[in-house]
Amino acid sequence: MEKDLHSIESVGEFGLIKDLAEGLSSRNPLTIRGIGDDAAVCRIPKGEVLVTSTDVLVEGIHFDMSYSPLKHLGYKAVAVNLSDIYAMNAKPQQITFSIALSSKYTVEAVRELYSGAELACETYGVDLVGGDTSSSKYGMFISVTALGTAKEENIVYRDGAKEKDLLLVSGDLGAAYLGLQILERERLIFKENPGAQPDLAGFDYVLERQLKPEPRQDVIAKLKELGVKPTSMIDISDGLASECLHLAEESEVSVQLYDTKIPIVKEVRDGAKEFNIDPSICALNGGEDYELLFTIAQTDFEKIKDEKLFSVIGYIDHASVG
Ligand code: ADP
Ligand code: MG
Repeated sequence: MEKDLHSIESVGEFGLIKDLAEGLSSRNPLTIRGIGDDAAVCRIPKGEVLVTSTDVLVEGIHFDMSYSPLKHLGYKAVAVNLSDIYAMNAKPQQITFSIALSSKYTVEAVRELYSGAELACETYGVDLVGGDTSSSKYGMFISVTALGTAKEENIVYRDGAKEKDLLLVSGDLGAAYLGLQILERERLIFKENPGAQPDLAGFDYVLERQLKPEPRQDVIAKLKELGVKPTSMIDISDGLASECLHLAEESEVSVQLYDTKIPIVKEVRDGAKEFNIDPSICALNGGEDYELLFTIAQTDFEKIKDEKLFSVIGYIDHASVG
């Protein structure tokens, strides 16, 4: 072990939890008791319901230590969970963050991971109220559960899309996938030639989209401000095509996409050219953009038509036959 780094064994599980808890703050007035007891205790605002979602991240499957800085990984693990809560049109309030670690991880490495998780919590007004800690034989496992609240009548499901509704998406698509292609390319070059310096120039935007995604709290706030409740909504974790299919299947409708309306920025078009990929494929099949895909009634079009945070990319048709 390098000087100044501490093995987890040397501090023990309880020492590690104590160390991590010291780096966390409580900011959410709904949190009554966080880390330290057998369970956390949180208030639910009167008349609201609990909305909860969990994601598991596995080293070698969902992230690769050779290009995931631990702080970014902690941030992303929280961000993607909060995205699920926003996709229900709910407000995330707390998370639990659980880890299993192999002996290659030090106390300092875990601190780095939690500093990213805490930064995401701070950014989105959420408290980290608990978790579980285990050892693992190989690699790292992370499981995050987000707890959110909403008035039941405000919740937006995947199954509410109706014929003639407009289909919208926030932000732009394809960048996170392209970022991953670049990181993967550099990883392979480095494997062949460990002295090689990564060539990441000009790819800032797409790398940021891969390594530090932001859940679209701003889009949810904007829709509320405009007085528009989507008829259905889903976040884009697996790519536009897959999410359209989910909406269509759940709502028993079909989705008509205008290929030319899919928002793809210049960085993605240029980068895709370098990799010889069609930029539309990055948007349709790439995934990890964590944008919101949603439908609205046509009668709400006037309210949203000048909005820059999202764009109309298609419409809902009757269920296709066969
Ligand atoms: P138990 O044995 O009852 O599961 P633990 O010792 O695992 O208790 O947990 C003690 C406290 O520390 C609990 O409040 C739990 O939520 C918290 N905790 C444990 N592991 C983590 C972790 N990795 N991150 C955050 N909190 C944790
Ligand atoms: Mg436990």
